Amino acid sequence: MKFMQGNDAKAALAAEAAKVAQAADGKYATYRYWMKKDEEKLITFLDGQLDEDGMLDIPLFFEHSVQSDGRWKTYVCIGEDEGCPFCAEGNRKSLCGVLTIIDHSEFTGKSRDGQPGKLYKNEKVLFVCKKGTIQALTAQAREACDGDLTGATFKVTRSSDPKSPRVGDSFFLKKKVTSDQLETLGEGKSLAYEYTPEEIGYKDKAQLAELGFGDLSGFTGATETATVSGGGESVDEIFN
Ligand SMILES: [Zn+2]
Repeated sequence: MKFMQGNDAKAALAAEAAKVAQAADGKYATYRYWMKKDEEKLITFLDGQLDEDGMLDIPLFFEHSVQSDGRWKTYVCIGEDEGCPFCAEGNRKSLCGVLTIIDHSEFTGKSRDGQPGKLYKNEKVLFVCKKGTIQALTAQAREACDGDLTGATFKVTRSSDPKSPRVGDSFFLKKKVTSDQLETLGEGKSLAYEYTPEEIGYKDKAQLAELGFGDLSGFTGATETATVSGGGESVDEIFN
C-alpha cells in the first residue's frame, strides 16, 4: 500500500507496515466514525492543516469495497504492483484520506452478561473519507478555518441519498477552539493519531489470502510486500 504524505511519513509507515506484517494476525483497526442516514452529529477535528499549495495535508491511501458474507467491507489496497487480489479482479479502488476527530455524540455499547453497555461520549476516532468529502473539507479549511481544521467543531448531517458518504455530506462550522481548550477533553484526546497501516486496517497479502482473497503465488515475503514505496499519486490527483 502507499500512504502519501512526505518522505519521513513514508519511511515511518514502511517500518510500521513491516511490523504489522510480522504480527501473527494483526490487531483490530481503530474505530472509524460513521453515521446513519438522516442523522446529525457534532464532531471536532484534531488535525487537517492545509499545505503551502492550499491542499489538505493528510495521509492518503487506496481502499477497496468488497461484498463478503453478505456485508460490505473495506480493504486497504496493497498496490497493484504488490499483487493486490482486489485490483487483480478488476475491483475499483477509491482514494481515501484519514483524519482524527472527537465524536461528541453519546452512545451505549453492547450489553454483556446482563450488564448494561458502557456509555461513550467524546470518543477519539478515525475519520476516513473519500474524494468528495476531502474537497468539501478543504473548502471549509480555506474559507472558514484559517487554513486549519484543527479544533474546528462541525455539525454534520448525512442525507438520505443512498450514495451519501458514511461520514456525512453537510458540514456546518459551529466554532473553532484553541489547543488549550482541546486539552480539556482529557489526556490523549487532544492530539490526532499517528497513523499506522494497522490502525486503518491494512492487511498484507498473506493475511488477505487467509481471508480467502487471492493466493500466495509469487509471494516473496511479508516485509517486501508491505514496503511503502515513494512516488506514485500525488495529493493533487484528488482535485483532477
Ligand atoms: Zn488494490
